[in-house]
Amino acid sequence: MRYVSEAIATGHAAGAGPFTRQCEAELAEILGARVLLTTSCTHALEMAAILLEIGPGDEVIVPSFTFVSTANAFALRGARIVFCDVREDTLNIDESKVAALITPRTKAIVFVNYGGVACDMRALKALSVNYMVPLVEDNAHGLLGSFLGRQLGTFGDLATLSFHETKNLHCGEGGALVINNPKFAARAEILRDKGTDRGKFTRGEVDKYTWVDIGSSYTPSDILAAFLLAQLEAREEIKSKREAVWNRYASGLADWAADNGVELPVVPPDCEQSFHLFYMLMPSGEQRDALIAHLEDLGIQAVFHYVPLHSSPMALRRGESRPCSVSESVSQRLIRLPFFNDMTETEQQRIIEAVEEFRCAVPNVREMASA
Ligand SMILES: *Cc1c(COP(=O)(O)O)cnc(C)c1O
Repeated sequence: MRYVSEAIATGHAAGAGPFTRQCEAELAEILGARVLLTTSCTHALEMAAILLEIGPGDEVIVPSFTFVSTANAFALRGARIVFCDVREDTLNIDESKVAALITPRTKAIVFVNYGGVACDMRALKALSVNYMVPLVEDNAHGLLGSFLGRQLGTFGDLATLSFHETKNLHCGEGGALVINNPKFAARAEILRDKGTDRGKFTRGEVDKYTWVDIGSSYTPSDILAAFLLAQLEAREEIKSKREAVWNRYASGLADWAADNGVELPVVPPDCEQSFHLFYMLMPSGEQRDALIAHLEDLGIQAVFHYVPLHSSPMALRRGESRPCSVSESVSQRLIRLPFFNDMTETEQQRIIEAVEEFRCAVPNVREMASA
């Protein structure tokens, strides 16, 4: 509230003001790269597509199990989206299936660190180097997570962050473009600022600013940046609250999950996750729907996502549909449990008990073993 009032009182409500610069400095320090705050992660992905000069005839590899924007930003430039299936354990892009999708037209490989758990960065990096295709990291979930000690958001030539209110740190609507490959830095600044060189003008490098490139209006208001700065400053506290919630679900539900054939999230040893969400994979789609209904009866809202993109109406219309059986199966079986920073232990215990009341109609492995 203090920062937001300050942003209003100082009269700099438009973009690129002092709070925007402070947020960008904080993020640059965390990630060790140039960061531009944007109006959303979607817009940062659109900027990435423009920076990579993606156009009609080009192909972009995108996981099927993700949010719409991961694909849409590239479709908007006229690219053909080539959907890749995801891994059964982390629900991240299946790196073993990427090479078969690469053609001379492939202009980018996009990956998402689902739930804030890293993709297999070694494999993706090797693909990028071997086939000379740049990587775009949609890190909407993964800020403050890491892979082998290195921050998520630093692996793609370009990476994007989301500060939408559903994300770990937020300002209502917001995002950022992380420029890990410095060759994109100068143009990124212009694209964000309506295709002008106003950035240079502000720094006194040119005596007037003008239209120099394509671009759009991707700079958030400094009032939103003020909100975000407070979130960024509280990041460790927010992360540790989320870690506690995540760990209580994982330990509290372990026995029930094992008894009922339910899979809990897998976090490979090389990954330190960002604790973005807690999901479970039910044995079947029917059981997932039944568990959601059971929780709803008890006044607990549980949700699912994503409707796979490879079989979406848009992909069908665009002729981009291809088999992605893991995405299909996961999308039907996944349930997300309530997850927010200030969840009390009592609230969470109630949710865990409500879940435990639900029995899946599957052979009980433990009882079968003891019988
Ligand atoms: C939330 C999300 C986005 C879009 O973020 P916005 O900031 O709302 O545009 C993109 N990709 C993934 C994986 C997301 O979860």
